[in-house]
Amino acid sequence: MGCGNCAVACPVNKLIDAQMAHGGRASTDDLLLKVSEGKCRVLHVEKCTGCKTCEHHCPNEAIHVARLLEAVHAPEEEV
Ligand code: SF4
Ligand code: SF4
Repeated sequence: MGCGNCAVACPVNKLIDAQMAHGGRASTDDLLLKVSEGKCRVLHVEKCTGCKTCEHHCPNEAIHVARLLEAVHAPEEEV
């Protein structure tokens, strides 16, 4: 189900798209999260701050935020 709660609640989406900030429809593919054709899609995972606002707004527990810092630090440890 693509209710869109996560995309509307995401603070990064609000900064990127003024329409989303006012609860409107997405107007750009620069968004972090976007619901299209009934599905929630992560378009730009690199923009995620890990705040978990999306998780808290999902009625179905269908979205889960990975542990962002681990993902950021992994390449440095390989050097
Ligand atoms: S965890 Fe990421 S995708 Fe979820 S609301 Fe925060 S910035 Fe947006
Ligand atoms: S992940 Fe949850 S909040 Fe986001 S569109 Fe799907 S059901 Fe709605």
